[in-house]
Amino acid sequence: MNPGSVPRVLIVDDEPANVRVLAEALQGAYDLRFATDGERALGLAMALPADLILLDVVMPGLDGFELLRRLKAQPATRDVPVIFVTALSEVGEEERGFAAGAVDYITKPISPPIVRARVRTHLELKRQRDLLEQRALIDGLTGIANRRRFDEEWARRAAAAFEQRLPVGVLLVDIDHFKQYNDHYGHGPGDDCLRRVATALQESCQRAGDLAARYGGEEFVIVRAAGSTGEMDSHASQLLQAVRRLDLPHVKSSTGPRVSISIGAVERVPDLGDGRDLLENADRLLYEAKRRGRNRCVLAGADITATRVLQGEETP
Ligand code: GH3
Ligand code: MG
Ligand code: MG
Repeated sequence: MNPGSVPRVLIVDDEPANVRVLAEALQGAYDLRFATDGERALGLAMALPADLILLDVVMPGLDGFELLRRLKAQPATRDVPVIFVTALSEVGEEERGFAAGAVDYITKPISPPIVRARVRTHLELKRQRDLLEQRALIDGLTGIANRRRFDEEWARRAAAAFEQRLPVGVLLVDIDHFKQYNDHYGHGPGDDCLRRVATALQESCQRAGDLAARYGGEEFVIVRAAGSTGEMDSHASQLLQAVRRLDLPHVKSSTGPRVSISIGAVERVPDLGDGRDLLENADRLLYEAKRRGRNRCVLAGADITATRVLQGEETP
């Protein structure tokens, strides 16, 4: 659930009259969607992620239990809370409903205040769960994606690139002489510097699929959006420049008077399904950038031995 957005509730019932009663009970507070059969409900749930589903148990064709089973089988819909709506005569189905993964049930005839209360409770629980999950993927110090988020995203993208034989681009970024920065300015200002650099890197990732994450310590990683092949050089120079423009003094750096970064960047089709080889390449190229004098990016493409060097702007 996006903070501040109107929660979307999907109402599924084969009886239009029941749909109407539920809709009237919830009107005004939610983005309401409807389906009068299981197949359509499944399609809608996949196409337009709901925050909560009110699901009739007895329906011709795909019934409530089977629909719930299918929702639980799909990563996109697995975590959407489902409240079963059952006729009083079907009590006893509740147990089966909870076992199948429903979070609650409401009995017909519908009592609007009960529907409102249950819906409100489960949407609030969902909101808190989403928030926790989001926090678990964000680096506490810098506010950008954390290592866990990167690992998950990388596993997905590397696997897709490997299977489709398409190149994927990754850049490893490391702050130059950061130990001296800490030693000279202190740990608090060191943390501030990490935050500033993280933000600058993230702002330099403008494509929808670009992901900037903290890789660990004073290292960051950027995965390039799929389909942005061939723009590595300009992206790398943007990153070097963005940090240069922060204009953070670093009097103990033997590279220049300001905080600078070094980058190892590679873009090619992974040889391994998990893309581990590309990360190793990027790490080696980063080491090469350090060795060649820092404040620069060393890049490679399909032929990992044919490297290019982009130097950061000299800092007078
Ligand atoms: P190089 O140019 O070769 O990268 O040298 P370096 O000094 O940047 O590299 P080194 O790996 O020797 O030191 C990294 C330093 O980063 C050491 C550590 O104190 C500091 N560091 C790592 N994480 C944090 C953090 O969360 N906050 C602060 N303030 N410092 C950190
Ligand atoms: Mg380092
Ligand atoms: Mg460093």
